[in-house]
Amino acid sequence: MTDITCDRCGALTPPHDVVSVASSDGPFRLLCSRCFNTGMAHLAEIRAFDHPQFTPMRLADADGVAHEFHFRSLLFGDQLSLEAFESGTHEEDCAGFRFQLLGDLQSDPFELLGELVQKIKRCLAVRHMVERSGRLEVAGTTVRGRIESGGNDDGRMPCVVIDGRRVDWTDFGRMLMAFEGWQFRIELVDPSDEA
Ligand SMILES: [Zn+2]
Repeated sequence: MTDITCDRCGALTPPHDVVSVASSDGPFRLLCSRCFNTGMAHLAEIRAFDHPQFTPMRLADADGVAHEFHFRSLLFGDQLSLEAFESGTHEEDCAGFRFQLLGDLQSDPFELLGELVQKIKRCLAVRHMVERSGRLEVAGTTVRGRIESGGNDDGRMPCVVIDGRRVDWTDFGRMLMAFEGWQFRIELVDPSDEA
């Protein structure tokens, strides 16, 4: 994906590190996370806020395949949100792993990063789908994933991202047909919690 120019400092910024902010006069502005945090620290009257920046990290999944994560830290009032985005070809279609952790602003950002990395490792260690004869199947009886816009029907139809892979809604339905007659339970979980 091409980098985006920050509307405030003009820095060329990778898309995962850009925040869309509504301005008082109407239009949305695209800000890099550093400019977003500088503005937020000013609004929340937080002095001496250091914008935490972390270098990308590679972490292995249950099959030993490495996934590279880029990090974004955003100041939300008295909380610091730390997000990890899997980089690579997934970015085009909203796929790839994504994780978020909300921490107290007083915490050491590197400790929060450590917590986030532990969360990522726990999630990467579990596989929810298996591929059998070229088709994806539910591996056990629990599926965890993320709801994303399917990118068609004006974004009204979802797709799901399971094990970091995009699965179209109809394909997900097909996968569930292995359990015809079974019951199911859906619990919606905030991005910063653990599903
Ligand atoms: Zn900027």
